Amino acid sequence: MSLLAAAGLVKEFGGLRAIDGLSLSIEAGELVGVIGPNGAGKSTLFNCVTGVVTPDEGTVTYDGTEVTGDPPDALARRGLVRTFQSTRELETMTVRDNVRLAAPDQPGERTVDALLRTESMQTTERAVRTRADELLETFELDHLADEYSGTLSGGQRKLLELARTLMLDPDVLMLDEPFAGVNPTLTGDIAEHIRELNANGMTVVIIEHELETLTELVDRLVVLRQGRVLVDGEPEDVLADDRVIEAYLGGGA
Ligand code: ADP
Ligand code: MG
Repeated sequence: MSLLAAAGLVKEFGGLRAIDGLSLSIEAGELVGVIGPNGAGKSTLFNCVTGVVTPDEGTVTYDGTEVTGDPPDALARRGLVRTFQSTRELETMTVRDNVRLAAPDQPGERTVDALLRTESMQTTERAVRTRADELLETFELDHLADEYSGTLSGGQRKLLELARTLMLDPDVLMLDEPFAGVNPTLTGDIAEHIRELNANGMTVVIIEHELETLTELVDRLVVLRQGRVLVDGEPEDVLADDRVIEAYLGGGA
């Protein structure tokens, strides 16, 4: 059975069918790219799968159970985690705190533990600090750890968002345009990190508008057009497909 599957999804906004009978399965360990013209329904697909919006029709199955419409935090606790197209870190907080506070089960939220400063709380705090520092180093943000996030470049924000997401220790990582607004060097770095996470067993699904980086990175490309899957296959085959060329050149939206 697939790790993650959408079956017959439909999502309308007013009269507009953003997702129009879409089915897609992701196997454990895959590295999949989702592409398609602006407005094709890529972000809405992610929103339906991760509980940000509830589909009008169809089901989402994750790790053996139906999770259609389950809230994002419940799915995140089960290992299904996504990023957003626009970054959501708190600009008036430091980079380090942004990463630390992304951890689930913040000790401070458990009031009794916090009041008593129990040993378990101190252990959790220490683990969170250590993991946050590791991620800051991995994403070359350690020299910016004490800066306010608002001072970061667009590319550095993407790295911060990825670091925050990884604090949740996902099994499935869904990235919405992780390379948008990122310079070529950082794009290469992010792609390298994604490749490594996948090599270590994480299932990754990436939406991207720009094709070049993605095509080199993924094992499989899914092309959406007008809320449906247009083509699904190996990157070289997909990019050579006349329907894909037409969808991009013809606008497709
Ligand atoms: P993509 O990510 O492929 O560019 P989206 O999934 O963001 O496309 O959007 C698909 C269509 O659905 C677009 O026409 C968009 O305007 C519309 N849409 C998406 N989200 C909403 C929403 N919350 N309210 C109204 N329309 C929306
Ligand atoms: Mg989008």
